[in-house]
Amino acid sequence: MKSIFDNTKFGRFNLKSRIIRSGLWESENESQKNLTPKIFKRYEKFAKNNVGLIVTELISMYSHDRFSDYSHYINYPYFIKEFKQLTDTVHEFDTPIFAQIGFINCNVNGKQMMEVNDLTIEDIRKIQSDYVVAAKKVAFAGFDGIQLNVGNNYYLSRVMDPFENQRQDNYGGNTYNRVRMVIEIIKLIKQTTDLHVHCRVNLYQDENDSLEICKILAENGADSLQITKFLSPQYFRKGQSNENMLVDFASKVADSVQVPVVLGGGWSEMGSIQDLLNRTGIGFLSMYRSFVHDPCFLTKWKKDGHGQSKCRTCNNCYWKKSSVCLIEGNETY
Ligand code: SF4
Repeated sequence: MKSIFDNTKFGRFNLKSRIIRSGLWESENESQKNLTPKIFKRYEKFAKNNVGLIVTELISMYSHDRFSDYSHYINYPYFIKEFKQLTDTVHEFDTPIFAQIGFINCNVNGKQMMEVNDLTIEDIRKIQSDYVVAAKKVAFAGFDGIQLNVGNNYYLSRVMDPFENQRQDNYGGNTYNRVRMVIEIIKLIKQTTDLHVHCRVNLYQDENDSLEICKILAENGADSLQITKFLSPQYFRKGQSNENMLVDFASKVADSVQVPVVLGGGWSEMGSIQDLLNRTGIGFLSMYRSFVHDPCFLTKWKKDGHGQSKCRTCNNCYWKKSSVCLIEGNETY
């Protein structure tokens, strides 16, 4: 029988719970790139309140990418210094922390908005070498792992997408070829750092192909997978909610791979999470808005033996690109 608060293994880490905190819009301010005292305090609260693993907001690979004005970016001059302080703070409470890395638009080698099918081999090598540099910075900053965001509509998710990727070379066509660029990145990261490599992967329209993508990643170096979705309604089949489709798919992935599988999105009640954990092979859940509403809610759940996030899922914080609840404003410091 699984419980949210099991002490459980995730790769080489011992987690205090099966809940993984995902971050978003923590920078909150276009001109303010450094880590503020408020952000340090927030992470300290996560780390001492029974979260299993912390994943940062997106750390953008490129300073000119679509969300880089609203997120941290890897080439920020004080990245290593400030994030090392942050990871040290979190580690004081024996909590592992991963950096989420990704990009949306491909502007490399002096070219703009490159489509997947137009990438040259030189462009692919440039992206891969940029990932190695990013991973080394992440390791120097004291992170335990790197979350490669190859899901949602991040660029590398489009590289693996059978509809988007119509390449005729070794980086297109069959499933393995579409995943090749990502598994080469994983191998390079593992050759140059000891980071745990966690991949955030989509359920695409073709479920069998998506399952194959997950298996290939897990067999070629990914240490864990988080299942997410492509953010487009036409990708979802009629008569089935997104959540049910994701549970169904994540459960199949968990039964097919030998690495931990995380399900992302939309869960907020302790009883239904426990039920999900026990009726599927899914071992971990990722949560975001519940932590925006109350960074300490897991400690209350653990003490009471039950609980439900009071977040109303209104998404105001999301649309305003804020990591503070805009309805209750209850993040106190
Ligand atoms: S603003 Fe809305 S979605 Fe965001 S934490 Fe508050 S209640 Fe939840």
